[in-house]
Amino acid sequence: MSSCIFCSIVAGDIPSKKIYEDEHTYAFFDISQVTKGHALVIPKHHHENLFDLPESELTSVYQSVQKVAHALKEAFSPAGLNLVNNNGQAAGQTVFHYHVHLIPRYDVTDGFGAKWEEHGSEYTEEKFEEMRVDVLKKLSN
Ligand code: AMP
Ligand code: ZN
Repeated sequence: MSSCIFCSIVAGDIPSKKIYEDEHTYAFFDISQVTKGHALVIPKHHHENLFDLPESELTSVYQSVQKVAHALKEAFSPAGLNLVNNNGQAAGQTVFHYHVHLIPRYDVTDGFGAKWEEHGSEYTEEKFEEMRVDVLKKLSN
């Protein structure tokens, strides 16, 4: 059995509440059910996080994300849906096999919430420009 819990799920060595599968991806209900219908979409191949995921797999994963999102919307009639993808321990990742959380939203007390502090006032125009140049340099490589 793989040491990765999600690889073991894909291999069928660990049971899961499967809701979708195709050649490249697998989707199942998250055991924690933060809200009703909380699901995970994963690539079948092991890639740790967004930075390791090949482009072709990224495309497959997000095609499945949209497919499953439509199904969750039709099945449970949520008022909205959050996509969450934690990359790295510091970002809250606990299972190091790439996955996208689909969290149907019903109301503000439904069990999910992301802290969203406003810090824009701490960034001057010059600081923003410096940051923009830093990123542009990396993207033009
Ligand atoms: P993250 O914190 O973004 O790495 O999310 C990992 C998620 O995997 C958590 O929400 C867990 O509840 C979920 N999880 C861990 N083990 C299982 C499992 N065996 N079946 C379904 N979900 C799982
Ligand atoms: Zn894995």
